[in-house]
Amino acid sequence: MSKPKALATRPLFPAARAILENNFDVEYWPVQEKIPRAELLKRVADKDALVCLLTEKVDDELLGDAPKLRIVSTVSVGYDHIDVPACTRRNVMVTNTPGVLDETTADLAWALLMAVARRVVEGDAWMRTGTWPGWELNQLLGSDVFGKTLGVVGFGRIGRRVARRALGFQMRVLYYNRSRAEAEVERELHAEYADMDRLLRESDFVSLHVPLNAETRHLMSTSSFEKMKRTAYLINTARGPVVDEAALVRALEEKKIAGAALDVYENEPKAHSGLLARRDVVLAPHIGSATIETRTKMAVMAATNAADFFAGRRPPNALNADALRS
Ligand code: NAP
Repeated sequence: MSKPKALATRPLFPAARAILENNFDVEYWPVQEKIPRAELLKRVADKDALVCLLTEKVDDELLGDAPKLRIVSTVSVGYDHIDVPACTRRNVMVTNTPGVLDETTADLAWALLMAVARRVVEGDAWMRTGTWPGWELNQLLGSDVFGKTLGVVGFGRIGRRVARRALGFQMRVLYYNRSRAEAEVERELHAEYADMDRLLRESDFVSLHVPLNAETRHLMSTSSFEKMKRTAYLINTARGPVVDEAALVRALEEKKIAGAALDVYENEPKAHSGLLARRDVVLAPHIGSATIETRTKMAVMAATNAADFFAGRRPPNALNADALRS
C-alpha cells in the first residue's frame, strides 16, 4: 500500500526525518530558509500532511489549494500562524509542540532580562571597538535584578518556568493570567496573582508569555507603558504583536520605561526602525527555543504527531481533535 504524502517545509533533523520517512512519502523544502508562498501552495497541493514552521501561514487559501490535506503539524508551540477554525471546517487536524521548549524559552527570557538590566550587549560592543579605557566607577550602570519585582504576563507552561527561576534571585513575583493558578502553584512559585494594572504599576521587569490571540494583540500599548515604572523593563519572548511596537518606541523615546529586550517582533523579520539604534534595547532574532536539543525534540514531536494521525492514533498534541468530524 502506498504511503500518505507529506510536505516538510524545512530539511528538519535526522531523528525527525527518520520518523517521517517510515510513515510517509516525504517531500522536503531542501534549504534552511523560508519556503516562498508560491512554492508552498504548489507543493502542498497533493499532500496528505503538512509539517510546517511558524513562518508558514496556513489559511483558507492554502487549505483550498490542498484538498487532500488531513493534518497540519507545526514545529512550534505557538499556532497563531494557523487558522485553526478554518482547518476544523475542512476537517484538517492541527497539532503543535508544547512542553518540550518551556525551560529553553524561559532561559532565553532570563538571558534577555539579565542582558538589558546589566547592559551586557552595550559592554560587548564597546569592548570590540578597542576603546574601553579601563574600570570606572560610573561606567555602564545598570539595574539590580535580585530582590526586585518580576511581573509575569501569561502564567502557563513558560511563564511558570520564568517565575521559578526568579526564586533564585529572591524576587517578588506577580503574575497576570486570564484564569488564576491553583493555590498550590502560587505557593510553590511564591507568585502572587495581580490584575494587569497592578502588575504594570509594581513590576521592575514585565515578561510576556501569553499566546497571540484576539485579546492579547497589542496587550502592551501606550496606556500600558504609561502605567509602568520609569525604571522598569519589558521582556517579550511571546509573540511580536502582543506589543504595539510603535508605542514601545515612543515609550522608550519619552523615557516612560528604562528599556526593553525582545525576541519577537510585530512584522518579522523586521524590527521597528526606531528600535535599531537604541542602546536601551536588546534585540534577539526569535531564538527562544533555539538549542540543538530543544529544536530536535520539537521536530521529532511534530513528526510523531503526523505519523500517529495516519497510524489511526490520536496525536498527543492535537489542538482541534474533538471538533473534527469522525
Ligand atoms: P501556555 O502554556 O498555553 O500558556 C499561555 C498562558 O497565557 C496560559 O496560562 C493562558 O491562560 C494565558 N492566556 C491566554 N490568553 C490570555 C489572555 N487573553 N489574557 C491573559 N492570559 C491569557 O503557552 P506556553 O507554552 O507557555 O507558550 C506561550 C507562548 O509563548 C506561545 O503561545 C508562543 O507564542 C510563545 N513562545 C515563543 C517562543 C520564542 O521562540 N520566543 C518559544 C515558545 C513559545 P489559560 O490558562 O487560562 O489558558
